[in-house]
Amino acid sequence: MTSYDYQLFVIGGGSGGVRAARIAAGLGARVAIAEGFRYGGTCVIRGCVPKKLLVYAAHFSEDFADAKGFGWTVPPAEFSWPQLIAAKDKEISRLSSIYENNLLGSKVTVLHGHARLLDPHTVEVNGERIRAEHILLATGGRPYLPNIPGIEHAITSNEVFNLPQLPKRVLIVGGGYIAVEFAGILNGLGAQVTLCYRGQCILRSFDEEVAAHLQAELVKKGITVLLNQHVAQISQLADASLAVELTGAENRTLAVDAVLYATGRVPNTQGLGLAELGVELDHKGGVKVDAFGQTNVASIHAVGDVTDRISLTPVAIREGAALANTLFGPAPVSADLRTVPTAVFSQPPIGTVGLTEAQALEQFGEIDVYRSTFRNMRHTLSGRDERTLIKLIVDSASQRVLGAHMVGADAPEIIQALAVAIHMRASKADFDATVALHPSAAEEFVTLRDKVVRKRTA
Ligand code: FAD
Ligand code: NDP
Repeated sequence: MTSYDYQLFVIGGGSGGVRAARIAAGLGARVAIAEGFRYGGTCVIRGCVPKKLLVYAAHFSEDFADAKGFGWTVPPAEFSWPQLIAAKDKEISRLSSIYENNLLGSKVTVLHGHARLLDPHTVEVNGERIRAEHILLATGGRPYLPNIPGIEHAITSNEVFNLPQLPKRVLIVGGGYIAVEFAGILNGLGAQVTLCYRGQCILRSFDEEVAAHLQAELVKKGITVLLNQHVAQISQLADASLAVELTGAENRTLAVDAVLYATGRVPNTQGLGLAELGVELDHKGGVKVDAFGQTNVASIHAVGDVTDRISLTPVAIREGAALANTLFGPAPVSADLRTVPTAVFSQPPIGTVGLTEAQALEQFGEIDVYRSTFRNMRHTLSGRDERTLIKLIVDSASQRVLGAHMVGADAPEIIQALAVAIHMRASKADFDATVALHPSAAEEFVTLRDKVVRKRTA
């Protein structure tokens, strides 16, 4: 024990690593952390936070247009991408400093530099060897790019936040969180957006009806959605624009100013020395851990995106806290991830918690599905043709609510609150007994009466 410089050495200053470091230090452990880029990690520097700021920015175009229906005359609005990016950068720098200062305030030794493992208790940072009783891998992930001709001309979510100008015509490849969110952002800011997805309907892991509803809303907003479509090749033209050869449902060439790939992320496990130490990885390179975040090498642990399970900030934070408590608290703690709400900050946004209709049917055999689609009150005057979808999935036998889904304004805020009820295993009768808050869209969740009973076949 005395031969170690630290009791815990954390590699990666993102959501999971920072939380683990601070909680461990708070429990009295000697802790150091190394970050190779900027403290705050993906979420703060080039993920959730800058993305949400851009979502806010993009929404103004609709707000200006909708204002007319409420009696406002809004002169033609002008938008400056460089101004938005500068404001965003300032805020990100502020947050990154707060992360670093909080670590220092918690008495964590803060290092800048890439770390790699030399043995189960030794890391190297900036040429210095440091011995630690426990090592935590919290190195997150990075965008995955398929190997197609001309892929070097594409950008990813890493670059899109710092483009010098807003591209006029953008092709977004992928149909997941990032593709859909950036389709809304770039479209709202004035770009001509084409989304190219290889399957039948975007957001494959979401409730099918939710995904289809959003897809229709994206089209209404002027986004071109190409389905069953693949990119064969990207080439640069003389005027610096890009020619993208598409295959699949249609074979054609599209001229754009930028191609944004949002085709998933892979864990950052390369160059850490993990293979040499025999740390087990899954087929995508994710670090395999047990329920307490421990790898097959007893002194090495992992949390967050590097484990390639649920890649969301609150999950990384929960796992980081649990790990610190397991190592330095009174008893081992496993992160409780039974109820993980999630949102797609699309326009309109999605909020969802619990099981999709298909998952519930598969797991429970017979379910009651309650749903409602309606025009939000705001749009009675704005005239905008946007519809909200809400949906509750209930186990027919126990009447427990298994899932709540919403596409519409404020869906993430509403679903976060509903997640409490679902985590507490509320029944449909509990929802019905709750008095509505009027007038709101959320009240629809407690006034649903008509159900469709679905039974698993075979
Ligand atoms: P990270 O936050 O990625 O932190 C890992 C850190 O390790 C990085 O700072 C990296 O520089 C550092 N690092 C890597 N290797 C080394 C090394 N060898 N030495 C030292 N440092 C190293 N999640 C949500 O919940 N809500 C959202 O709205 C949301 N939006 C997102 C939008 C985008 C565009 C992206 C890309 C992701 C988004 N996510 C969102 C996911 C979220 O950002 C991640 O799940 C979360 O950041 C994972 O935290 P982490 O600690 O595991 O890793
Ligand atoms: P996702 O896994 O959400 O989506 C990836 C998309 O790319 C899918 O539509 C997938 O298609 C498609 N795809 C994968 N490989 C290829 C390929 N070779 N060619 C063409 N298309 C391909 O990943 P994202 O990159 O959007 O985001 C990464 C993760 O970050 C998310 O899963 C989420 O965990 C997190 N995140 C969370 C956000 C939030 O909480 N709001 C926002 C942004 C990111 P298919 O469905 O057919 O497999």
